[in-house]
Amino acid sequence: MSIASMWMANRMIENGVTLKQYQQDVDAWINEIGIRYFDQLTNTAILMEEVGELARIMAREYGEQSWKKSAERPELADEMADVLFVLTCLANQCGVDLTEAVQRNMDKKSGRDRERHANNTKLRP
Ligand SMILES: [Mg+2]
Repeated sequence: MSIASMWMANRMIENGVTLKQYQQDVDAWINEIGIRYFDQLTNTAILMEEVGELARIMAREYGEQSWKKSAERPELADEMADVLFVLTCLANQCGVDLTEAVQRNMDKKSGRDRERHANNTKLRP
């Protein structure tokens, strides 16, 4: 674990973390350690790269693909955290408040999908 990631992890463990705090922590980390944000298009490409790393694990641990004998096995949680980090960078760069966005999104899903899922016989055992 790098010094930078230890710094962030310690801060999060000590304080617990909300999405709002995490956005602020990511911004502080970028400005203090990352120097500045990559531009949005670069970060979008990096996000796709990180999602690909996550997909690689999912295909091998939960899907039908297998690991090469020599392959180093990355940690699922760490790859999920990479995705969240870059997504949070993009939110900060685009002026998105993730707390508000998550709340609005859950409200939207709850209103839209309640009956739809309740009536989906494929979801029943
Ligand atoms: Mg990664």
